[in-house]
Amino acid sequence: MPNTDLFNTYAEFAEFIAPKLAEISAERTVLERKIKRTIKRYYTKYDQVTATFLKCLYAAGPVMTRYAEITKEFNHIKLEIIKSKLKYGMVTPEEAAPIRVAEAKHVSVSSVLGGITTRKSRDTYLCPLHAETSGSLKVYKNNSWYCFGCCQGGDTIDLVMKYYNLPFNKAVEWLT
Ligand SMILES: [Zn+2]
Repeated sequence: MPNTDLFNTYAEFAEFIAPKLAEISAERTVLERKIKRTIKRYYTKYDQVTATFLKCLYAAGPVMTRYAEITKEFNHIKLEIIKSKLKYGMVTPEEAAPIRVAEAKHVSVSSVLGGITTRKSRDTYLCPLHAETSGSLKVYKNNSWYCFGCCQGGDTIDLVMKYYNLPFNKAVEWLT
């Protein structure tokens, strides 16, 4: 997320956000150094690509988790500000739309499915869009879904549109 955009849009929160951004970039710098060192060490020592890869993932784990947490927190704050600005007529619905759409896509498909149908295994559900008993709907790691029974799929917004029979903008509102 480009810092300048963030501060232009949410100037009132710049004071709060700036230290957090600094924190993230410091952590990312440390992470990059760690990964480079690890790659160098493993390549010269063992020349094992898999070992290097696993080691890098291991090094990246804690920092990336923290990064994801902070990003999520930012997105939440951004949405709350947009909602308040909308309420007081400080932004038009058109200006607020992209961030609401992004936030809606971010809501997990599993959480929506959890409220409307039965889970059959870790990543399969009874499809709420057609009558079945086997569990043809699969949820993927990138937060998309596909039903092999009725051949429908998409992202979180698509699911809400199809299940509740809503137009795009109403589905976004429902999710945010
Ligand atoms: Zn289906």
